Amino acid sequence: MPARPILWIVIPCYNEEKVLPITAPLFRDKLLSLIGGEKISPSSRVLFVNDGSSDRTWEIITALAREDERYLGISQSRNRGHQNAVLAGLMEAKDHADITISIDCDGQDDVNAMDAMVDAYLDGSEVVYGVRSSRETDSFFKRTTAHAFYRMMRGLDAEVVYDHADYRLVSSLVLRHFADFEEVNIFLRGMFPLVGFKSSCVYYERARRVAGKSHYPLKKMAALALNGITDLSVKPINLIAGIGLVISLLGLAGAIWAVVEALLGNTVAGWASTVCILCVLGGIQLVSLGVIGQYVGKTYLETKRRPRYIISERTWEKGGRRWIEETSDDAGEDRTPPSPTHTEKPHERKSL
Ligand code: UDP
Ligand code: MG
Repeated sequence: MPARPILWIVIPCYNEEKVLPITAPLFRDKLLSLIGGEKISPSSRVLFVNDGSSDRTWEIITALAREDERYLGISQSRNRGHQNAVLAGLMEAKDHADITISIDCDGQDDVNAMDAMVDAYLDGSEVVYGVRSSRETDSFFKRTTAHAFYRMMRGLDAEVVYDHADYRLVSSLVLRHFADFEEVNIFLRGMFPLVGFKSSCVYYERARRVAGKSHYPLKKMAALALNGITDLSVKPINLIAGIGLVISLLGLAGAIWAVVEALLGNTVAGWASTVCILCVLGGIQLVSLGVIGQYVGKTYLETKRRPRYIISERTWEKGGRRWIEETSDDAGEDRTPPSPTHTEKPHERKSL
């Protein structure tokens, strides 16, 4: 039997105690069905990334890991947001797996699309984007703002796959190159197209959350969108320069006109026109400063080179406290990673 790829499903979780008991078995069952269908290696795993949850999420993940070796978990030292949680999971997985699939833990993304994703990988794609074929289950507001965002990104020449969020298969080959993208402000869905390699799309229906509430209120959604724009495009700065140039030319024409009028003795008390010009120009200047400030602020954050995530615990390791190890009964427990790291023969692809 040819060797098959090791898959790690990477799942960010933030305060999902209501959701995890329902969806965790769905991920495991999908893994088992892919293993049963001989598409992936039996060493494949489900990796939960606890993003500094304040509820019982991490307890649930550790209990799952005790119950079944196919479940693994890592915990971030604090909440860092969805993008950093996915990144932490992918960077952890890349050394153990041949392929990863990132997916939200709330059941909105259809796990059955994974079959087509793995098939696409076996057919030669290194990145497979999960694309929502319909957004009927999203609110009207979320749907329209999301579509406006994708259109704007295209207008700004940023390469994003329309209606793709963070449900995607990525091979460890791509992840190893992706690891060289060291920016702190990350917008994963816009960064993977930059890595290149052969990619394809798999379409699925987006469902409702199985339980709990969305962690993306308007403010966070706007921050993510802004991050995406500043991360992928400097066109807004060029746009400002263009607007500045046009206004300067108009201003020059206006100044010449004013001098000519003054010389001809036609000047009148133009209060309204003066106030209008001041207000419009003042507004444009402030907005322009704000946009440029966004880029300066992002540059400032980048120069600090702070870590993008800090993993405080892994379900297959004990915490880093030596005294616990020395005094506890099970001191000296095995600390090796959970999956044989490529002890199997390299897997083969159908068409390669
Ligand atoms: N999430 C996370 N950290 C956060 C917020 C969200 O890891 O700070 C996870 C969350 O548990 C879920 C995924 O990111 O698995 C998507 O979040 P959510 O479903 O709330 O967003 P929506 O689908 O409404 O955009
Ligand atoms: Mg969701």
